[in-house]
Amino acid sequence: MSFFVVKVAVPVPLRRLFDYLPAPSDQQSNYLPGQRVRVNFANQLLTGIVVGTATSTDVPEGKLRPLLERLDTAPLLDQELLAFGQWLARYYHHNVGEFYDLMIPALLRRGSNLDEACERHWTRIPPADEPQTLRGSRQLALWQRFCEQPGWPHHELTAAGFTLAQIKALAERELIREEASIPLPPAGSGDQSPLPLNDQQQQALDRIRSGLDRFAVWLLEGITGSGKTEVYLQLMADVLAKGQQVMVLVPEIGLTPQTVQRFRRRFAEPVVVMHSGLNDRERLQAWELCRQGQARILIGTRSAIFTPLPELGLIILDEEHDASFKQQDGVRYSARDAALVRASKRQIPVVLGSATPSLETLHNALTGRYQHLRLTRRAGLSRPPGMKLHSILHQPLSAGLAQPVIAAIQKHLEQQQQVLVFLNRRGFAPLFACPDCGWMAECRRCDARLTLHQNPPHLHCHHCDYQQGIPGFCPHCHSDRVQALGQGTERLQESLLRLFPDVPLTRIDRDTARTRNAFDELLAEIHQPGARLLVGTQMLAKGHHFPAVTLVVVLDADAGLFSADFRGMEHTAQLILQVAGRAGREETPGEVWIQTFYADHPQLNMLINDGYHALALSILQERQRQTLPPFSHMVMLRAEAADRPMAEQLLQQARQFLQNPQQPWNRQHDNPLLGSPLVLLGPVPAIMERRAGRFRQQLQLYSPDRARLHSALDPLVDYLHSLKGMNRVRWHLDVDPVDC
Ligand code: ADP
Ligand code: ZN
Ligand code: ZN
Repeated sequence: MSFFVVKVAVPVPLRRLFDYLPAPSDQQSNYLPGQRVRVNFANQLLTGIVVGTATSTDVPEGKLRPLLERLDTAPLLDQELLAFGQWLARYYHHNVGEFYDLMIPALLRRGSNLDEACERHWTRIPPADEPQTLRGSRQLALWQRFCEQPGWPHHELTAAGFTLAQIKALAERELIREEASIPLPPAGSGDQSPLPLNDQQQQALDRIRSGLDRFAVWLLEGITGSGKTEVYLQLMADVLAKGQQVMVLVPEIGLTPQTVQRFRRRFAEPVVVMHSGLNDRERLQAWELCRQGQARILIGTRSAIFTPLPELGLIILDEEHDASFKQQDGVRYSARDAALVRASKRQIPVVLGSATPSLETLHNALTGRYQHLRLTRRAGLSRPPGMKLHSILHQPLSAGLAQPVIAAIQKHLEQQQQVLVFLNRRGFAPLFACPDCGWMAECRRCDARLTLHQNPPHLHCHHCDYQQGIPGFCPHCHSDRVQALGQGTERLQESLLRLFPDVPLTRIDRDTARTRNAFDELLAEIHQPGARLLVGTQMLAKGHHFPAVTLVVVLDADAGLFSADFRGMEHTAQLILQVAGRAGREETPGEVWIQTFYADHPQLNMLINDGYHALALSILQERQRQTLPPFSHMVMLRAEAADRPMAEQLLQQARQFLQNPQQPWNRQHDNPLLGSPLVLLGPVPAIMERRAGRFRQQLQLYSPDRARLHSALDPLVDYLHSLKGMNRVRWHLDVDPVDC
């Protein structure tokens, strides 16, 4: 058909663009890529993004509909972001409309105007003489305010009891005028000067500096406290001085006021922060300040990678190994990998920083795809902590702690220092069981045990949020000896209070730090002087600077040693080092005690004695032998359904489709090195097969040849969409999964 149509990316799972006629009153030439439009899509009102226009369409004439409204005169997303979204959609096999949807703030997604980012403001117009025309005491009182201070935000005036009519009366007499602007975040003080760098820092800085005008990926591998952040700060100063913007991505848990403060103290430029705690309006404001270029520094978590920054000159991604950079539901993507793509399109550098780099990143650095920089010594005055494994095999424990560990805690507390006890399990006890018949409280909807919480008392499933009361009798044999087994942070807190009744204790986990405010208050507590016990989960382990902690005790590190996930050891090592890094950050040297049943575990010993880097190299060798990532590329096809055979059946069909020898990805290449085959594993049940009442199965696809693997995915997705009678099975592809 020959028609002028607008091609629109719509946020629905179907991987294609949709053609619409222009809105009835609109001119064809008004449509530009990157504008928002409102469309009626299968009786839903949706906001889509214009991708282009065309003069022909495959849609039959009768089916072509006009779009409802064009929302923007100028494009909202620029060419760079449009192309970025297209790349991501191809790589992750999602619809591009879903990625564009992630790029715009919720208010704009719902069709609001950009003006909503602005706040109304009233400013005094300098008058020739005292106004005679004001009537009534309220108007005079209002005028009085403007004599004291020439500008007032609208909401402050209304909060003080002035009505819109009273304010407008002054405006009509041309005494004040209305202005609207986006409030800038508080400007940084910029009063802290750069520190003189040590040799390693200087070398790292010089090398990255030498290539600021082109794409390169730098891995800055530096132990905790080695001064990575100082290197970022000095690098940023260069980029800002060139008139460019900087994006800093940090893990969800690491984005604290402390972190932001550090940047604000160094730079007087506007620093904008983006995280999940912002309300819709604040998010829109931050986004628009970035897009207009008023914000020079953006600090954000995962999804900030999609923020428009027209003058972006550098991306820094701190703690690059952190799992929170991977989106695990909905549109699955890795913000780290996306950062690389964005930087390469702009020809700017990316710096990935970590004390414990992921093996993927380390592999890329070792093979020369990334530039590798190492900081092996602590900067400043502190020394790395001494680490030791403490065997608890056949040892009596009280409150889960061995006697020598308790003695060590005692010693540090007596010296007025802080002790951090790390236990990565919240709640009171992980099991509630009957000693007479072996019954255990289990979730009805998951293959999981219920965790006992005492505050308030209940049993709780940490996977689906199911909750119930605590039975006084065993539902199976009616014994009244039902009891809590094992310990979580609540119980640990109770035991430690009994052992050290005079020492203040702060517990940080998802239950005590439920809101950002609560979290900040707990962090403030920790910064008070004097002896203190800190108890917590990984919320306490990441990114915080606790100057007074000199002893770190790690309980139950064993949980990760024998995990079914091939990344278990990698993640355990990262977590242990991260917690250990909290010890001895200032002058007093720190100690780390790791309680374990497996004190002779070779990899644990390697971590303690030779460090993360050495352990990582050894794990890499093992992965190479088994052709596991990063020596192969992996994609997971997951399916779930309310009944078990359905999910499995869908994956069986996918397997047959993929295995067909006629498919191009199965053909032999003449050069056998190029033609590494696609390997399929499964379908197998997920590690926790049943969750929230649904059965979960997975099919793993992997190949050393990424191109070959990816060539199978588009046809696979089309095939799965074409299957009949499968609409009760939910499925998704996870490209480069991190939990297997
Ligand atoms: P990292 O980000 O690698 O954990 P930081 O940048 O936070 O390390 O540095 C750790 C501590 O050392 C901070 O208190 C920092 O101010 C200090 N520091 C960093 N570089 C230097 C330096 N060159 N000289 C003195 N102190 C430094
Ligand atoms: Zn029983
Ligand atoms: Zn559950």
